[in-house]
Amino acid sequence: MKPTHIEHIGIAVSNLEAAISFYENTFGLECYKIEEIADQKVRTAFFLVGQTKIELLESTDPEGPIGKFIEKKGEGIHHIAFAVENIEEKLIRAEKSGIKLIDSKPRKGAEGLDIAFLHPKSTSGVLIEICEHRK
Ligand code: ZN
Repeated sequence: MKPTHIEHIGIAVSNLEAAISFYENTFGLECYKIEEIADQKVRTAFFLVGQTKIELLESTDPEGPIGKFIEKKGEGIHHIAFAVENIEEKLIRAEKSGIKLIDSKPRKGAEGLDIAFLHPKSTSGVLIEICEHRK
Protein backbone atom coordinates (compact mmCIF):
# COMPACT_ATOMS: atom_id res chain seq x y z
CA MET A 1 0.00 0.00 0.00
CA LYS A 2 2.31 2.68 -1.26
CA PRO A 3 1.43 6.06 0.26
CA THR A 4 1.43 9.19 -1.87
CA HIS A 5 2.98 11.33 0.89
CA ILE A 6 3.11 11.89 4.62
CA GLU A 7 -0.19 13.63 5.25
CA HIS A 8 0.56 14.64 8.82
CA ILE A 9 2.49 13.95 11.97
CA GLY A 10 0.38 13.86 15.13
CA ILE A 11 2.00 15.23 18.27
CA ALA A 12 0.45 14.82 21.70
CA VAL A 13 0.72 17.99 23.78
CA SER A 14 -0.52 18.84 27.26
CA ASN A 15 -1.13 22.53 26.52
CA LEU A 16 -2.35 23.35 23.02
CA GLU A 17 -1.91 27.13 23.29
CA ALA A 18 1.68 26.80 24.53
CA ALA A 19 2.52 24.33 21.77
CA ILE A 20 0.94 26.59 19.12
CA SER A 21 3.07 29.49 20.35
CA PHE A 22 6.19 27.33 20.07
CA TYR A 23 5.55 26.42 16.43
CA GLU A 24 4.55 29.98 15.55
CA ASN A 25 7.41 31.72 17.32
CA THR A 26 10.18 29.21 16.67
CA PHE A 27 9.43 28.19 13.09
CA GLY A 28 7.31 31.09 11.89
CA LEU A 29 4.52 28.67 10.99
CA GLU A 30 0.91 29.75 11.00
CA CYS A 31 -1.75 27.80 12.85
CA TYR A 32 -4.48 27.73 10.19
CA LYS A 33 -7.12 25.84 12.12
CA ILE A 34 -8.13 24.63 15.54
CA GLU A 35 -10.69 21.85 15.50
CA GLU A 36 -12.28 19.86 18.30
CA ILE A 37 -13.04 16.23 17.51
CA ALA A 38 -15.53 15.18 20.15
CA ASP A 39 -15.35 11.57 19.00
CA GLN A 40 -11.69 11.28 19.79
CA LYS A 41 -11.77 13.60 22.82
CA VAL A 42 -9.14 15.94 21.39
CA ARG A 43 -8.58 19.51 20.35
CA THR A 44 -6.30 19.76 17.37
CA ALA A 45 -4.26 22.58 15.85
CA PHE A 46 -2.85 22.44 12.34
CA PHE A 47 0.25 23.80 10.65
CA LEU A 48 1.39 23.20 7.11
CA VAL A 49 5.01 22.37 6.28
CA GLY A 50 5.24 21.78 2.55
CA GLN A 51 2.39 19.37 1.88
CA THR A 52 2.72 17.74 5.29
CA LYS A 53 0.76 18.93 8.29
CA ILE A 54 1.79 19.07 11.89
CA GLU A 55 -1.25 18.11 13.93
CA LEU A 56 -1.03 19.05 17.60
CA LEU A 57 -3.34 16.98 19.78
CA GLU A 58 -4.54 18.09 23.19
CA SER A 59 -6.79 15.82 25.20
CA THR A 60 -10.19 17.09 26.32
CA ASP A 61 -10.69 14.08 28.60
CA PRO A 62 -8.10 12.17 30.66
CA GLU A 63 -9.86 8.93 29.64
CA GLY A 64 -9.53 9.69 25.92
CA PRO A 65 -6.78 8.19 23.76
CA ILE A 66 -4.48 11.24 23.94
CA GLY A 67 -5.09 11.67 27.67
CA LYS A 68 -4.04 8.08 28.25
CA PHE A 69 -1.07 8.38 25.89
CA ILE A 70 0.29 11.42 27.74
CA GLU A 71 -0.23 9.79 31.11
CA LYS A 72 1.75 6.74 29.98
CA LYS A 73 4.44 8.24 27.78
CA GLY A 74 4.33 11.99 28.23
CA GLU A 75 4.16 14.49 25.40
CA GLY A 76 5.65 13.52 22.06
CA ILE A 77 5.05 12.05 18.63
CA HIS A 78 1.78 10.15 18.74
CA HIS A 79 1.35 8.94 15.17
CA ILE A 80 2.43 9.31 11.56
CA ALA A 81 -0.23 9.49 8.86
CA PHE A 82 0.32 8.27 5.32
CA ALA A 83 -1.99 9.47 2.57
CA VAL A 84 -3.24 6.56 0.49
CA GLU A 85 -5.71 6.02 -2.29
CA ASN A 86 -8.64 3.59 -1.90
CA ILE A 87 -8.31 3.31 1.86
CA GLU A 88 -10.96 0.58 2.24
CA GLU A 89 -9.22 -1.67 -0.22
CA LYS A 90 -5.84 -0.95 1.44
CA LEU A 91 -7.26 -2.00 4.81
CA ILE A 92 -8.67 -5.23 3.45
CA ARG A 93 -5.34 -6.04 1.84
CA ALA A 94 -3.37 -5.19 4.99
CA GLU A 95 -5.61 -7.41 7.09
CA LYS A 96 -5.24 -10.26 4.62
CA SER A 97 -1.48 -9.99 4.80
CA GLY A 98 -1.62 -10.40 8.58
CA ILE A 99 -1.18 -6.81 9.71
CA LYS A 100 -3.02 -6.12 12.94
CA LEU A 101 -5.48 -3.25 12.56
CA ILE A 102 -7.02 -0.94 15.12
CA ASP A 103 -9.69 0.10 12.61
CA SER A 104 -10.84 -2.48 10.12
CA LYS A 105 -13.03 0.18 8.51
CA PRO A 106 -12.22 3.87 7.93
CA ARG A 107 -13.74 6.42 10.28
CA LYS A 108 -14.04 10.18 10.16
CA GLY A 109 -10.98 12.16 11.19
CA ALA A 110 -10.17 15.86 11.22
CA GLU A 111 -9.69 17.87 8.03
CA GLY A 112 -12.28 15.93 6.01
CA LEU A 113 -10.23 12.74 6.05
CA ASP A 114 -11.24 9.13 6.31
CA ILE A 115 -8.73 7.57 8.65
CA ALA A 116 -7.73 4.18 10.03
CA PHE A 117 -4.98 3.10 12.38
CA LEU A 118 -2.68 0.11 12.09
CA HIS A 119 -1.73 -1.54 15.35
CA PRO A 120 1.77 -0.65 16.66
CA LYS A 121 2.36 -4.37 17.29
CA SER A 122 2.57 -4.80 13.52
CA THR A 123 4.57 -1.65 12.78
CA SER A 124 7.70 -1.75 14.95
CA GLY A 125 5.97 0.24 17.65
CA VAL A 126 4.88 3.25 15.59
CA LEU A 127 1.21 4.12 15.53
CA ILE A 128 0.58 4.50 11.79
CA GLU A 129 -2.55 6.08 10.40
CA ILE A 130 -3.55 5.78 6.79
CA CYS A 131 -5.90 8.40 5.47
CA GLU A 132 -7.69 9.58 2.37
CA HIS A 133 -9.66 12.71 1.57
CA ARG A 134 -13.35 11.90 1.85
CA LYS A 135 -14.94 11.72 -1.57
ZN1 ZN B 1 -3.91 11.76 12.45
